[in-house]
Amino acid sequence: MKKVSVVIPCYNEEKALPLYFEAVDPVISKIKDYEFDFVLVNDGSKDNTLQVMNDLYMKRNDIIICSLSRNFGQNPAFAAGLEVCDGDYAIMMDSDLQDPVELIAKICEKFSEGYEVVNPFRADRNTDSFVKRKTAGMFYRFINKLEGKEVAPENVNCFRGISRRVIDAINNLSEADRQLRTEVPFVGYKTCKIDFKREVRSAGESKYNMSKMFNLAFDNISATTAKPLYTPIKIGAILSALFGASFIAMLVFMILSYCGVKPFVQGYAIIFSVFIAITIFFAMSVIIFFIGIISLYLHNILINTRNRPNHIIDIVKKPEDK
Ligand code: UDP
Ligand code: MG
Repeated sequence: MKKVSVVIPCYNEEKALPLYFEAVDPVISKIKDYEFDFVLVNDGSKDNTLQVMNDLYMKRNDIIICSLSRNFGQNPAFAAGLEVCDGDYAIMMDSDLQDPVELIAKICEKFSEGYEVVNPFRADRNTDSFVKRKTAGMFYRFINKLEGKEVAPENVNCFRGISRRVIDAINNLSEADRQLRTEVPFVGYKTCKIDFKREVRSAGESKYNMSKMFNLAFDNISATTAKPLYTPIKIGAILSALFGASFIAMLVFMILSYCGVKPFVQGYAIIFSVFIAITIFFAMSVIIFFIGIISLYLHNILINTRNRPNHIIDIVKKPEDK
């Protein structure tokens, strides 16, 4: 029988984790064609998450604990889980029941139909705040439009079902960082989508604030597409043309006034000067903006050349170690 490893990153989830297993057990008991194990990744939790994991590990025979040496973040935690899991398939999902456990059955059906990547997409994001919904929508449209193809399927986050071939391909990607939202589509293979409604968190608090969401979006963009690096050349050319034309016009106007060909009209001179001043201020803001863009790519190059691991595993406990 094929095995599905459910990989669950946990950061301060002492309350959510028991609720997760209460919900998932009735679901997996009805799936007859697959067996399951659960890779619980403790991402440097500061509460009793590891203790809760140990209790589950002692009670059940389907738990693998993978505890990281400190908090690395959700994507590195998934990466650690994918390295440790040995299933024929993996389902990556959060511990807080926002990714509904009922979908495990649907994902397995798609595996049986031969799909190697199953993307659950959030058809309904009403549980997210207005700002999060809008900014997330902008992120997906922006990144896909930049590349001119679907590099990050809209409203698909880390919640995914993937086959062993995809797991191995992800584990072998050379990037020092892990951005699963864009790396799974990069790997390819036969892919399908299923829709779901994102639920509210079962317990505990979200670990993402607006600033973290923006950083994640920037990291995904700089790791996935180089297109923003082309824009300074285009905007630079337009601004130089604008600046150059107004400068020449002002020069001609000055010379003509000086030679007495045209009477000196003070109003024109003021308009020209203000126009040039605005162009300079605008150009300066654009330059600062583009330095910001270049810094994002520099950061990405730094991460990849420094080549530190994106996570460090402290403890791995498998059922056979009991
Ligand atoms: N998570 C993690 N490390 C972190 C932040 C989050 O392992 O540094 C886990 C968290 O425990 C949860 C999942 O990633 O299982 C999603 O986090 P959260 O629910 O806070 O994100 P949201 O659903 O609010 O976007
Ligand atoms: Mg959540």
